[in-house]
Amino acid sequence: MGVLTAADLLPEADQARVKEAIQKAEARTSGEIRVHLDDTIADEVLDHAAYLFEELGMFRTRDRNGVLIYVSAADRRVAVIGDAGINARVPEGYWNDVLALLQEQFKNGRFADGLCLAVERVGEKLRADFPFERGDTDELPNDISFG
Ligand code: CA
Ligand code: CA
Repeated sequence: MGVLTAADLLPEADQARVKEAIQKAEARTSGEIRVHLDDTIADEVLDHAAYLFEELGMFRTRDRNGVLIYVSAADRRVAVIGDAGINARVPEGYWNDVLALLQEQFKNGRFADGLCLAVERVGEKLRADFPFERGDTDELPNDISFG
């Protein structure tokens, strides 16, 4: 088997599952979750995810509470980046359990399950600091983006 691409990792049916998980998570928090997959990257994963956070306009939330789950498919590298609003409230390493969960699931070949679980977990964390409010809007698209 050759090098995995992002589309191999997450075929369309699985993308729908992840999108649904995002919708469900966002129904309980004002925070916004996005998932981005690249085939592969040259630079350091956290740097690249931070760059993408800007590129995707993820800072465009009222409470600065967007969270990006990033995956580089070929080498299964992952990162979770939160915006200033959430980062100001949480201790360092706050997302480490989400990373561990992703890595564990990926290791066992469960990509869609891993992403859905990670979205769920991020949603739970967001909910603690940013509960859902009446009149909440979907500030960032729930679609998965590909690089
Ligand atoms: Ca929202
Ligand atoms: Ca959204």
